[in-house]
Amino acid sequence: MKKFVYSFNEGNREMKDLLGGKGANLAEMTSIGLPVPQGFTITTEACNEFYKRDKKIWDELEKEIFEFLVKLEDQTGKKFGSDKNPLLVSVRSGAKISMPGMMDTILNLGLNDKVVNTIADVTNNPRFAYDSYRRFIQMFSDVVMEIPKYLFELVLDDIKEQKGYKFDTDLDVEDLKEVVKRYKKIYLDNIKEDFPQDPKEQLIKAVFAVFKSWNNKRAIIYREQNDISHEIGTAVNVQSMVFGNMGDDCGTGVAFTRNPSTGEKEMIGEFLMNAQGEDVVAGIRTPMTIDKLKEENVEAYNQFLDICSTLENHYRDMQDIEFTIENRKLYLLQTRNGKRTAKAAIRIAIDLYEEGLITKDEALMKVEPKQLDQLLHPTFDKEELKNAVVLGRGLAASPGAATGRVCFTAEMAVKKAAEYKDVILVRNETSPEDIEGMTISNGILTSKGGITSHAAVVARGMGKCCVCGCEEIYINEAEKYFKVNGKVYKEGDYISIDGSTGNVYEGVVKTSPEALSDDFYKLMSWADDRRRLMVRTNADTPEDAQNAVKFGAEGIGLCRTEHMFFEESRILAIREMIVSDTKEEREHALSKILPYQKQDFIDIFKVMAQRPVTIRLLDPPLHEFLPSKKEDIEELSKTINVDYNMLMSRIKSLHEFNPMLGHRGCRLAVTYPEIAVMQTTAIIEAALYVKKEEGIDVVPEIMIPLIGDINELRYIENVVKKTADTIIEKSNVELNYKFGTMIEVPRGALTSDEVAESAEFFSFGTNDLTQMTYGFSRDDANKFIQEYKEKKIFEKDPFVSIDEKGVGKLIKIAYELGRKTRPDLKIGICGEHGGDPKSIEFCNKVGLDYVSCSPFRVPIARLAAAQAVIKG
Ligand code: ADP
Ligand code: MG
Ligand code: MG
Repeated sequence: MKKFVYSFNEGNREMKDLLGGKGANLAEMTSIGLPVPQGFTITTEACNEFYKRDKKIWDELEKEIFEFLVKLEDQTGKKFGSDKNPLLVSVRSGAKISMPGMMDTILNLGLNDKVVNTIADVTNNPRFAYDSYRRFIQMFSDVVMEIPKYLFELVLDDIKEQKGYKFDTDLDVEDLKEVVKRYKKIYLDNIKEDFPQDPKEQLIKAVFAVFKSWNNKRAIIYREQNDISHEIGTAVNVQSMVFGNMGDDCGTGVAFTRNPSTGEKEMIGEFLMNAQGEDVVAGIRTPMTIDKLKEENVEAYNQFLDICSTLENHYRDMQDIEFTIENRKLYLLQTRNGKRTAKAAIRIAIDLYEEGLITKDEALMKVEPKQLDQLLHPTFDKEELKNAVVLGRGLAASPGAATGRVCFTAEMAVKKAAEYKDVILVRNETSPEDIEGMTISNGILTSKGGITSHAAVVARGMGKCCVCGCEEIYINEAEKYFKVNGKVYKEGDYISIDGSTGNVYEGVVKTSPEALSDDFYKLMSWADDRRRLMVRTNADTPEDAQNAVKFGAEGIGLCRTEHMFFEESRILAIREMIVSDTKEEREHALSKILPYQKQDFIDIFKVMAQRPVTIRLLDPPLHEFLPSKKEDIEELSKTINVDYNMLMSRIKSLHEFNPMLGHRGCRLAVTYPEIAVMQTTAIIEAALYVKKEEGIDVVPEIMIPLIGDINELRYIENVVKKTADTIIEKSNVELNYKFGTMIEVPRGALTSDEVAESAEFFSFGTNDLTQMTYGFSRDDANKFIQEYKEKKIFEKDPFVSIDEKGVGKLIKIAYELGRKTRPDLKIGICGEHGGDPKSIEFCNKVGLDYVSCSPFRVPIARLAAAQAVIKG
């Protein structure tokens, strides 16, 4: 029979798939002798089986759980429901990949009306017993029975107000008994049953709830955002309780072994005395910083320091640790590799290497390529900051600069996102329900909670700017305003927040681009040493090209010429060309465009110096350039001196039913070869110019889009080469250029042995290739792809991450056939996929020469290409 339950002393950290991250690490810590309360883990396989069985806990599983419960009773010498020495447990979720706060945890399970008194007697601390009981009833009701939390909070607030208390810790035992009484009434009113008194029944119901929480809405959204499979399931950890809420020599806290924002080697953490579980992160009382623990309990503090370094050395990574102190004794409740900003990730990777803890390859693997994006984003302009009005100061929880209009609830942020464009979410504290609103906002500001609060952790994960614990501001959520220094700010007002300093500013503060750190360049150079793939960029303007070079691009893999056509000075000539009836008229119009186009290429060649530049000839359906507004058509009719009605009918005649499959790509050059002539002229003359005037030896690569048949390519080859060679000959300058094609039509891929007879290089246009392989219009696909994902037809959007089975197969075929014909064929990719780490791994495996992606993705691609080599 399959084993579904493991005791903490049976597992280890390699078993994350089965035990989840939390369970595997609890087992690992147990095995290296750290003080971990004992317990057992119900596996992720049990969770998947649970879903297969239509969300039922089956008899054998229940039996196995109870067997391990008996073992736990033996280990602890305590017993479930006992009237002498009762065992209480926590029931904790934990998937393979940590999803902080996304699923639910229940503490103090095992309490009932009798046990609470036994605990009161044996601990001689009735206040503690009832405090634990009220917490348990609330968590159980919320997590297991889905009774709204606020009903319980109202009771607590009511009693606190009656008695004039500020904190939960002010409640005395009589108050807490009253709280328990009223909580049980809420339970009875909502469920129509008494609060369950049998601990075993409580346990099974709690396990059920944790399994079920795998598919709650916020967990699903989190997995979507973080690319975590919905199939892996969660494990459930059942662990004997230790208590941080037994009095003032007890407490609970969390700490990072290094600073998760900057990566600096300094412990960062927070704790609260006389508190339990989530009190620290929930922002109920403002916690103390970890160094203050020295004053409260120096032995526990020193022991904690020791354990931190043990764990760092053991895991060879920065750890995020949860602990509890019970009667001055320290217990560890969790460790995991801590989430961190990109800046911190780089710093920590480099430091760990330099401290001799990890190899260079391991350092490279420690930084998530997609995260690098955060570094390329703006900070506030230094000059602007001098005049900016500081409203308040909070904690610098997640770096970056953000400006936007204030919203006080996540729902409002979602609702107003379109109207406001830029939203700053301002809340007392955030909770997992707010995740959608946080995603939509530019930044998050909270008035309560520390740097390990929910807002801070989630924002860092998203790479979103966050300032938290800004206590000066008073928020009135109901009436939608906040007040600071006597001034009132309403919903919709602009504010700016700086997640690197914690400053909050009035109004809009301009931003300037982030200066990249030495650490960044160092890590990138390590990546460059390791990767095989070249990294080029998709750039249509000198500015884009300049940016890309700064980020390390080694060439341009795709320069789209049509973007140059849209500029105001040119669009009229383009339109004139399109509506022309004769070749002569078209040539006349094209001759007006030539000097512009030539100058564009000169500017780009200059920026790129000797680096290769691939230029694609005109690609989009022509109607995209045509005017639709009446006044534009009138203007065109005047400029080209054609009657308005004639012009209208010409425009109508260009209408296509399926423009994406219509008159576009190489089909344009076949029907209007004069366009290809003009573009080739511009490219070659520009290359000759920079060679003569600037001494830059470019080898332009002329690329023909949308080839499906070798005869299309041959026809255009003839036009392009005749044009180019004539110009070069006349110039008396030696110039090399290359002629090649995009592979983006399935037939082109399948016949690429023929295509390679004419083409000297291939570039996979995977946007079109995906569109045509699936038969999905990429402009319309987002209408149904989301649903495909929800219905598990697709795991991933094939426009984001390459479909290896289908589109990938075509790439492999084209690669092999092409190289058979022409062994030195240069092969790259220039679709959106060129910047997606998973697709880059695929390109590396297939053997492509380069990937090309948008400028801001160049660093991502460099690192991903190195990781692809390391993964092998
Ligand atoms: P999350 O995954 O959201 O961090 P956890 O399962 O780690 O949830 O539980 C949250 C907190 O509950 C822990 O950080 C710890 O403070 C408390 N907790 C969990 N189990 C125990 C236990 N056995 N004894 C004492 N406190 C516990
Ligand atoms: Mg935890
Ligand atoms: Mg294309």
